[in-house]
Amino acid sequence: MLRDSYQRVHDYLRISITDKCNFSCTYCIPIKNCHFLPNEKLMTVDELFQITRTFVQLGVRKIRLTGGEPLIHPDFLSIVEKLHQLNIELALTTNGYYLDKYISELIKLGLTSINISLDTLESAKFLKITGKNAFERIYRNIQLLLDKGLHPKINVVLIKGVNDNEIIQFIEWTKQLPIHVRFIEYMPFEANQWNRNYVVELDEILKVAQQKGFSLIKLKDHINSTSKSFQVEGFKGTFAVISTVSNPFCDTCNRLRLTADGKLRNCLFAQNETDLLTPLRNGLDIVPLIQQNVLMKFKVRGGLPDFKNPELNNHLSKRKMIEIGG
Ligand code: SAM
Ligand code: SF4
Repeated sequence: MLRDSYQRVHDYLRISITDKCNFSCTYCIPIKNCHFLPNEKLMTVDELFQITRTFVQLGVRKIRLTGGEPLIHPDFLSIVEKLHQLNIELALTTNGYYLDKYISELIKLGLTSINISLDTLESAKFLKITGKNAFERIYRNIQLLLDKGLHPKINVVLIKGVNDNEIIQFIEWTKQLPIHVRFIEYMPFEANQWNRNYVVELDEILKVAQQKGFSLIKLKDHINSTSKSFQVEGFKGTFAVISTVSNPFCDTCNRLRLTADGKLRNCLFAQNETDLLTPLRNGLDIVPLIQQNVLMKFKVRGGLPDFKNPELNNHLSKRKMIEIGG
């Protein structure tokens, strides 16, 4: 098992399978100096499989494919097919654009835990946030998942003055549908124009919901969950808040991250990463490298101070979310 020096067991790996995307969300893609890695620096399907299999041998039980946009990877289905052989729980985070193309195959392969990013229920605003005129398509694809009997999670990055006026609409969306809306606090990344004042916190969201007269039930969260979940009495779906900025969830963290170029990060906020791809290409054993990396994991926030301290903002502002994988 991959246990760190604080006795946290790491059994969940998030893999960014590509650093490229067909959207350019304002909070994710840097507004300047946006360059992508050349193909030869990225893991091939085979390399990705070999590295992932090693993690599974070391106790990883859940894998989430993310990016960039995972569904634009030319070998996306081959990756899912290969990872399916590992007998682990497979999950996906996507912007939803190509879900109609893949959904039947994904269901066949047992990949049914799907998170879709959708930050607004207004078409014009969607275009402004993502740079793509695709609101109707994403909405249709979410409906398609529901028609297939899935209960997708909808990731909403809340930004004050941009979409915080839609909190009620998002919660109302859960009235008739078994969807799980997850409000994510806006985080600083390279050139994404983050400002602490733009972050919408849990208390504010609950206040808005209560002022609307919603009767909220607090749901039990999974021990390793990063979110606090609620349900409005009588509603079919649920909503949750992921408070990465105001209230991180390091105590029970079981997550590791693998970047598209084969680097292991033991925390979203990590200041160091371990290259696994080069040693793998050189025929070396990557097991000790993985174990060492996990042992070096800091107790809280990758060893950085909280968001009130500019040091953390400075550090994160030099990283691209699209490289790390959300
Ligand atoms: N392209 C896919 C998608 O959009 O779902 C997967 C990759 S994306 C980087 C993964 C998640 O990170 C998304 O839910 C996205 O909303 C979130 N994310 C990106 N930038 C963020 C930021 N600055 N703060 C908080 N969440 C962010
Ligand atoms: Fe692309 Fe997802 Fe980032 Fe938006 S959040 S730019 S869809 S990777």
